[in-house]
Amino acid sequence: MKKWTRSFIKAATDGALDLLYPMDCRLCGRKGVGSSVLCMVCWEKIPLWNGAKCGSCGAPSPDDLDKCGYCPQSKEANEALGKIRSAGHYSGVLRAALLAMKYERKPHMASHFAEMIVRVEPPLYDWGVYEAVVYAPGHRIRRLERGFDQAALIARRLAQLIGLPVGSGWLRRVKRTRILARVGDFEARRSELEGVFKAKLPAKARGRRLLLADDIVTTGATTGEIAQTLREAGSGPVDVVSAARAYHPAPFDHEESALFDRSGNWI
Ligand SMILES: [Zn+2]
Ligand SMILES: [Zn+2]
Repeated sequence: MKKWTRSFIKAATDGALDLLYPMDCRLCGRKGVGSSVLCMVCWEKIPLWNGAKCGSCGAPSPDDLDKCGYCPQSKEANEALGKIRSAGHYSGVLRAALLAMKYERKPHMASHFAEMIVRVEPPLYDWGVYEAVVYAPGHRIRRLERGFDQAALIARRLAQLIGLPVGSGWLRRVKRTRILARVGDFEARRSELEGVFKAKLPAKARGRRLLLADDIVTTGATTGEIAQTLREAGSGPVDVVSAARAYHPAPFDHEESALFDRSGNWI
């Protein structure tokens, strides 16, 4: 049997098992949390980036600066990239939960991440100014291996919550990339990403603002490349929203946590 067929069947059986034998919350042990991994109370305890933030990259900033030390390099290298806003920092429970969605195949978790994005106070954006929510589709093969596309699921639920349409099919991934986490620095990631995406926009999206949703923003290299692709296809400014933001390079070692081991498994 092909690898992706096996994975697909595994994803489907895992989902069915979650329903039959609901898990207990990984953090507090509360009974029967379905396939969400955490109970509602623990989801709501994930620290959100409420309050003042960098006007450019959305990192918490007591001074409400226009630019900060955590702004991704791509902000300068790529003028197409608008603002970035994230619900929280890629560490602790948020990081473990994102890893669980991806590697333990828990597509239901996507709605919790979208809900986190809209719970941030003050709201991350004036959602009404955007024409649609778009997302970068994963490569077909990787999507089939995993059984779902986490960015697409977050984008869809977010669009529902903020009352916007999803720009489905506006962006395509035409080339497979290596896993970027292994590619290294920003410049290396940028060259890896050249020509990876293609955009085709309907007339109503021409010159209009778009909101690009993702699970994690790290160097901003991927989002920058997508923003540029969308601008070249005729969109207006492209702002980014993600569930988590990983600082790159990390200002401190946030890889260590009592919640998971070095390879990201829950302990
Ligand atoms: Zn709990
Ligand atoms: Zn910044």
